[in-house]
Amino acid sequence: MTTPPYNSQPLTPHTAPQGPAATYPAGSPQSPYGYGQPAQAPMPGCRVCGAHPAEGFTVRAHQGLLVVMRFEKLDGPFCRTCGRAVIRQMTTRTLLLGWWSPLSLVAITPFTLLWNLVAHRKFSKLPASTPAPGRQSLPEGTPVHRRPVAYVALIPAAWAVWAITGLITHAG
Ligand SMILES: [Zn+2]
Repeated sequence: MTTPPYNSQPLTPHTAPQGPAATYPAGSPQSPYGYGQPAQAPMPGCRVCGAHPAEGFTVRAHQGLLVVMRFEKLDGPFCRTCGRAVIRQMTTRTLLLGWWSPLSLVAITPFTLLWNLVAHRKFSKLPASTPAPGRQSLPEGTPVHRRPVAYVALIPAAWAVWAITGLITHAG
């Protein structure tokens, strides 16, 4: 007779503890490999046309219509051309529709316009870019101050001046 089945291999220690503890998570600060700053990792190009360099900055628009307020934002990265195109579109929309609720008039719309002014500076600092093969950047279009709708903004501005003047002259 052959040996009874008592020969079952007990725990084979060399295959035992191979848990996930041995692997480092990719971006962990304990990672033993010290190559470069992780921030220098592949910088994404413009989200519209894929061009480099691109700036990761958000462009905003605001609409305030009596009780309905609408906040819009488009996150970058955008290249110089697309960034400025988006700013023009969203700023024009804000100038047109941003004034028609009280809170928008005094706070949100001025903030939005200021924000886009900062964005415009940032994107204007980028060098001119070439879209990735097969893709197109946005047309920049007419500057905001040459678009007639932008001057709708003069109406609430004039109203505000008129209202304040009225308050002063009727006071006391
Ligand atoms: Zn672009």
